[in-house]
Amino acid sequence: MVLASVRLPGATACCDVHIRDGHVSAITTAGERPGVAMAADAQVLDLEGRFVVPGLWDEHVHMTQWALAANRIDLSGAASARAAVELVRNGITAAGPGADRTLTVVGAGFRDAVWDDVPSAEMLDDATRGVPTALISHDLHCVWLNSAAARRYGVQLPADGLLREEAAFAVTRELGKLPDDVVDGWVRTAGQEAAARGVVGVVDLEMTWNRDVWLRRIASGFNSLRVEAGVYPEDLERAASAGMRTGQTVDGGAGLLRVGPLKVLIDGSLNTRTAFCVDPYPHGGHGILTVSEPELVALLARARETAFVPAVHAIGDGANKVALDAFAEVGIGGRIEHAQFVRQEDFARFGELGLTASVQPAHALDDRDAADANWPGRTDRAFPLRSLLDARARLALGSDAPVAPLDPWLAMSAATARARNDGRGPWHPEQALTREEALLASTRGRGRIRAGDVADIAVLDADPLGASDAVFAGMPVAATLVAGRFTFRGAGV
Ligand SMILES: [Zn+2]
Repeated sequence: MVLASVRLPGATACCDVHIRDGHVSAITTAGERPGVAMAADAQVLDLEGRFVVPGLWDEHVHMTQWALAANRIDLSGAASARAAVELVRNGITAAGPGADRTLTVVGAGFRDAVWDDVPSAEMLDDATRGVPTALISHDLHCVWLNSAAARRYGVQLPADGLLREEAAFAVTRELGKLPDDVVDGWVRTAGQEAAARGVVGVVDLEMTWNRDVWLRRIASGFNSLRVEAGVYPEDLERAASAGMRTGQTVDGGAGLLRVGPLKVLIDGSLNTRTAFCVDPYPHGGHGILTVSEPELVALLARARETAFVPAVHAIGDGANKVALDAFAEVGIGGRIEHAQFVRQEDFARFGELGLTASVQPAHALDDRDAADANWPGRTDRAFPLRSLLDARARLALGSDAPVAPLDPWLAMSAATARARNDGRGPWHPEQALTREEALLASTRGRGRIRAGDVADIAVLDADPLGASDAVFAGMPVAATLVAGRFTFRGAGV
């Protein structure tokens, strides 16, 4: 196949990209094929000056959680109980009469504390007409049920229809118990949507024995993305005795599935003030270190013995220090997930230890207020993409979906502009990346297509180096290929 009349980022002249056996066999001046033997049945696709980049990776996702979130009605914008109920009514209408009613309709993200009206079971019953419906509050501590859902889950409803605390958690747990084929179908759709954004691969850090889940999905038709499935410490010995190691291609995975890193969480998060920090939070406390330094050292040593690459979740500057100390002591490379807050004196160690900083730039903008409030006067080293790159850390961009949407253009836009189109202006723009750096960090260091590469390619309608910030953030993707096979083909291609 030839992707004809395409441009590399920043170029004005067109070229042809030749694909053979899943690889880029040659890149030639458009229309000229000197020395390139073309098969008689080669398919030539005129892409009319569109731009080609290596296919994008999202280096940190929770794929099942992302697929579940995509199938819940988003109530985060509901300013009243009435408004929430209208969103639910519209959601049920949009799903149509053919929707599977063995599944409870789920909404999520409502904030009843700011409502000036009072929710009730009747209000929800009226909008849902007997369709079992459960709405989960943004902090998960409250669930609003209609009568049909109350019957389904065998709970006694108070007059307002709201369950709180343990009663809410119990229903939420039940809502998470869905048949595998339902969740797999949703994941298949989420994969296709990611491919439509130019994504060719994800590192999936879902907290489960993930290999078999993905083998099942691939066997039942998932084929839109490469997947590197992470392993958690409680499963490390099981993985090691199964002969698994990071980077290994998994048999039965159709060439798409590889063993991912060993994911180790050692602290909490910024918004819950559980990220482990050197300086105390304004409200007190340093956050939580969930794994002691000796435990982490032992775990990394075992990772080295079993050929697993550690991916250590560290958000606070105290946690990042502990992680760096442990990497140095064990003498192993790997990744630090998030690296949201780093002591000035620790940056250089990322480069010296050859570490990858797996970062989620959209969080910098989601959390700028939380960071300013909790790390006051110190946010010059929060979400420090530029400082990490200057220290020769390898950067790998991701979303942590469902925390942010699985869309690398949103991540790259946040990384380069450090601003959203919300009139607030950029936040610590000195930590921004260039477009080229953001592309490198989203394509495993490839940046641009070269002869000999695997033909994982995204075809774009705009130049990623020349487009406006707004176009870049919502980059129109025309097609995506994995090993020369279309995983997404837009209408114009
Ligand atoms: Zn995560």
